[in-house]
Amino acid sequence: MIIKIEPLAGFCFGVVSAINLVEKELRDNEKLYCLGDIVHNNMEVERLSKLGLEVIDIERMKTLKDTKIMIRAHGEPPSTYALAKENNIEIIDATCPIVLKLQQNVRKGYLRMKEIGGQVVIYGKKGHAEVVGLVGQTNNEAIVVSSKEDLDLINFEKPIHLFSQTTMSKEDYKSLCDEVLLRYNSNNKTNNDLIITNSICGKVSSRSKELIEFSDTVDVLLFVSGKNSSNGMYLFNLCKEHKEKTYLISKKEDVKKEWFEDCESVGISGATSTPRWLMEEIMQECISIN
Ligand code: SF4
Repeated sequence: MIIKIEPLAGFCFGVVSAINLVEKELRDNEKLYCLGDIVHNNMEVERLSKLGLEVIDIERMKTLKDTKIMIRAHGEPPSTYALAKENNIEIIDATCPIVLKLQQNVRKGYLRMKEIGGQVVIYGKKGHAEVVGLVGQTNNEAIVVSSKEDLDLINFEKPIHLFSQTTMSKEDYKSLCDEVLLRYNSNNKTNNDLIITNSICGKVSSRSKELIEFSDTVDVLLFVSGKNSSNGMYLFNLCKEHKEKTYLISKKEDVKKEWFEDCESVGISGATSTPRWLMEEIMQECISIN
């Protein structure tokens, strides 16, 4: 049986640079706080916690003073930076440059919408860290929509600037945008007050094609991801629709021998938050149970 890891699988550059920053800090310090999981992958979080990274939430941050806190690739709202300043906390900022740029654009969009009485709308997962950071750019006034059902929250008689969380499915975003356009036009707007920004990360949207192509080269696909990774769940569902014998696993212990019956080749891939070392560990497990 041939077992191979997808060549392009592994962390995206945003996550790589966040982890590099953590490792660099922990070479000189015994401990570092991180606001939320550095990456949506429990195995990697566990590895970094052994090096001294402690995950905290915003409530815990409020109790800390005169220390260092890491902000992960998802970014944070302005209120977090204000809290850090108040408590003399040094921020080690690993916000991904793509997310940072999006935060700035959402801020600009918000200021413009405010001037003309419009709304900023963000397509994303309610409560997701990146979405919280984006909504924070709008004084918490942006409308968050997770599906077409949520579009009723928007007033289509007013100007709209629509953005997406960086890790959403581009197909779903397109379909949502079509519905927004339809509803907007049916309100007989003649001016140019609907702006749709394509803010899905290129790394995420190109992964779909690469992954489907890779899955076509194997009989069974093991997709490695934490269930809390939106990018991971999106890519897994995409693969599952394309190849029935696609299995979602998060660690080597999840691999089942029966999946490999009548199988000549196994592919291993993962989300932009799945470490390469974990896929290699799973590859070893497949070799040993085969
Ligand atoms: S998925 Fe894209 S936007 Fe998100 S951290 Fe990775 S590179 Fe940055």
